[in-house]
Amino acid sequence: METERLYYNDPYLLEFDANIIETRPVGDRFGIILDKTAFYPTSGGQPNDLGTINGLPLVDCLEDEASGNIIHVIEGTITGSSVHGRIDPARRTDHMQQHSGQHVLSQAFVEIFNWPTVSFHLGTVSCTIDLPVDSVSREQAEAAEELANRIVRENRSVVVRYIAHENVAEAGLRKPTDRSGDIRVIDIAGYDRSACGGTHVRITGEIGPILITGIERAKKQIRVEFICGDRVLQYARRANSTLESISQTISAAPFETARAVRALWDEYQKARKRIEELESELLDYEAARFPLTDGIATATFKGRGIEKLKMLAVKICTRPGTVALLADEGDQLRVVFARSADATVDVAALLKKTLGRFGGRGGGRPNLAQGGGLTGSADEILNFAQDLSRGPAPRS
Ligand SMILES: [Zn+2]
Repeated sequence: METERLYYNDPYLLEFDANIIETRPVGDRFGIILDKTAFYPTSGGQPNDLGTINGLPLVDCLEDEASGNIIHVIEGTITGSSVHGRIDPARRTDHMQQHSGQHVLSQAFVEIFNWPTVSFHLGTVSCTIDLPVDSVSREQAEAAEELANRIVRENRSVVVRYIAHENVAEAGLRKPTDRSGDIRVIDIAGYDRSACGGTHVRITGEIGPILITGIERAKKQIRVEFICGDRVLQYARRANSTLESISQTISAAPFETARAVRALWDEYQKARKRIEELESELLDYEAARFPLTDGIATATFKGRGIEKLKMLAVKICTRPGTVALLADEGDQLRVVFARSADATVDVAALLKKTLGRFGGRGGGRPNLAQGGGLTGSADEILNFAQDLSRGPAPRS
């Protein structure tokens, strides 16, 4: 016996009594099949309802494709044969608003541009429909949005009809269906007819506003992101508080913030470039005066960063006959070894020996090498490298 779907004919029914006809494990949870249910199972782009069964949380609700039964997955175990189910009203209402809104918006794209909806997804934050076209302009999206919102305002009735499979060709459905038997059709008066198993509002006014929030290309189609009903209010509140916050931070009127942020960004880019130039000049100055002992510069820095260390080492080694052995104690101990063009020591070989003694990883060329993750004090490591660089490697 197939589960009777109470939500088919009354999506406003939020409590029901039913009998268990089968129990089965679903993963490590308890699954039950009822003779009838008001819980909507995940299908057709619409996620499942939540709620409770005998006071225990329903964690999932799915269709058993083979039997057409609905499996309720619950937290805990139920004994006995009869249950009382309660549907989470906020989630149900939200899904009804989004799904009915989708039918209205999809038909708006058909009516104005003759673009069918090829798929629909109802997400926790937003919903999407995919249109098989190359592009959708902001103006085209707004035209569909305006028609959709007019249909909402006209408060048209939304009726569930059942049409025999053989009569479906004349039923004027928005999209053909390959279902057999009686086809459940959602009929928005004088506007749209779609084969659908979802939960829908009874009049379009209950959908509330329909807002397109994004248009993006997805696999040779256009994905239109939208929200309906209470989600639009939440979105507007959030967008408003974000705008207010930016507006206060940069002292610009809310609708002037885009221009003001653009100007700030350009200024920031210029400043960043200028800082880089000044840093480079400062490094030149530091490198030219860096103290050398027998032509060797050694120093340990704290968190200066590997790139800056490399730049400094290279600049020091523009002085003839120079070797630079620099260390940085940041999140890990890093070293940079460099030599001037006229020096003979191979700093890559020097680094390899140093890593052999203190561990870590790294490599480079004869004139510039870097390593990281060494174990030991920076002084000890640099002394070791300094001794090596002065002559042949000491035998151990
Ligand atoms: Zn639908």
